[in-house]
Amino acid sequence: MKLLVVGSVAFDAIETPFGKTDKILGGAATYIGIAASILGTDTSIVSVVGGDFPQEDLDMLTNRGVNVDGVEIIKEGKTFFWSGKYHNDLNTRDTLATEVNVLAEFNPKVPAHAENAEILLLGNLHPAVQLSVLEKMAKRPQLVILDTMNFWMDTAMDILGQMISKTDVITINDEEARQLSGEYSLIKAAEKIRNMGPRFVIIKKGEHGALLFHDKKIFAVPALPLEEVFDPTGAGDTFAGGFAAHLATTGVISFENMKTALIVGSAMASFTVEKFGTERLEEVSQDDLKKRIGEFRQLTAFETEIYK
Ligand code: AMP
Repeated sequence: MKLLVVGSVAFDAIETPFGKTDKILGGAATYIGIAASILGTDTSIVSVVGGDFPQEDLDMLTNRGVNVDGVEIIKEGKTFFWSGKYHNDLNTRDTLATEVNVLAEFNPKVPAHAENAEILLLGNLHPAVQLSVLEKMAKRPQLVILDTMNFWMDTAMDILGQMISKTDVITINDEEARQLSGEYSLIKAAEKIRNMGPRFVIIKKGEHGALLFHDKKIFAVPALPLEEVFDPTGAGDTFAGGFAAHLATTGVISFENMKTALIVGSAMASFTVEKFGTERLEEVSQDDLKKRIGEFRQLTAFETEIYK
């Protein structure tokens, strides 16, 4: 199956307790695209950058097999810039700057070759932009995956509600799930969110892993305990990218296959946090990924024989 990704391609400046970066490559669609390329998924990105965006970063994606024909370059514009500083726990961060720049007027154009993608992954953007992409598809994709955040709940809830009602899979973090549903219990929250439209709800819990809800079923995946977490930026996007890419590459959309997809996404995200920005993810091979998936299996496998 083909995967179409819509999201930011950006510059980030990141500060963690371990150091800081100048402007480096970032953006949700960048992380998603690199993650999908590790599985060799047929992936296209729709986004926008300014004339200041290095051609070599677009070439890096192209060389990995990611189609960037849908990344518009506005020569006289500036690329979206985000800057953040992580607290000592690395779980929380302050946004220091968000310069929307060319994203402010983003009118996504879906290239003809991607109009019939079976899986559409709508990265975290204004819900009106996400909706417009869905409307530009030649036919409704088999699976629409939505990533969003509390900022849109605070500022654009009406249109976000419309977007959610057209979504199959939503990925949000635990606090956002609570805000969206008004429920503290994540089980109740997921049920309420499913009633808004999505058949599948994924709740991300940072270093505590993620939960997948479907009908009355729940699947839980841990995050791999790592000796060193260096920079969590992009972990959520990498997770979504690995998840969507696994479904696209295997071509099977089911709860059972989503369990594996969740592990793939978590394994990929565990690489992203090991270095600043996209640096670590760019080095990962399929063999590295397989090894790490093995570590996930070991982490949760145990003997059940005597309790049968
Ligand atoms: P994450 O750490 O998964 O939340 O994603 C971080 C990435 O999201 C960074 O590379 C940023 O460039 C990008 N980002 C941050 N804020 C926004 C926003 N308002 N719209 C689009 N992308 C954003």
